Amino acid sequence: MEFVIDLDELGKRGKSTLQGIYPLDSVDFVTGPCPVLEPVFVKIVVVKTDLGIAVGGYVKTIIEHPCDRCLEPVAVPINGTIEALYKNSEQNERQEETQDLRNVIYYSGNRIDLSERILEAIIVDIPSRVLCKPDCRGLCPYCGENLNEHPDHECKSSGSNADPRMNKLKDLRQIIKEG
Ligand SMILES: [Zn+2]
Ligand SMILES: [Zn+2]
Repeated sequence: MEFVIDLDELGKRGKSTLQGIYPLDSVDFVTGPCPVLEPVFVKIVVVKTDLGIAVGGYVKTIIEHPCDRCLEPVAVPINGTIEALYKNSEQNERQEETQDLRNVIYYSGNRIDLSERILEAIIVDIPSRVLCKPDCRGLCPYCGENLNEHPDHECKSSGSNADPRMNKLKDLRQIIKEG
C-alpha cells in the first residue's frame, strides 16, 4: 500500500492510522543493496497538532546483510521506529520553537509521502556490526578461505604466518637475538 498522508482528509478527522505492507524488494545500505526477506509491515499514526503534523510508528521486517567477518548472508530482523514532525514550509513563524527538535521536516502541498521515513527507519535499525554468529571465525586473511567451514585451515598462500619459510626466518631472528 501507499503510505501517503492526505492533508485534506487529516484536516477533517485530526488523526489517522496507516497500516499495512510497504512494497520493497531491497534496501540500499552503505555496504550495498540488502534484499528484503519478509514483507515490510508498517504502522504509522498521524496526528494534527498545533506545532505541525506528528508522525509516529514502527516498521518490522527481516533483511539480508552479509556477515562482517565471513561475508555469508545473515537474516537481520528489523524493528525500526518512525518519529517525525512535519511543518508547513509556508508557515514558518514558529520555526524557532522547534529548531532544537530532531526530525522536523518541512512540507508543502496537501500530500506527505512517508516512504523516506520508512526506508530511514529500516536503515537506522541495521546494526553497525552484523555477524552470522558471535564467534564467527571470518575468512583467512591470505586466501579468503571460510574459517567456519575449515577450522583447521593452514594457509599455504604467500604472506601467511603459516608459511614454513616465514617460520625459518623467525628462527633465524631468534638465533641472531640470542647469539
Ligand atoms: Zn560470519
Ligand atoms: Zn588461507
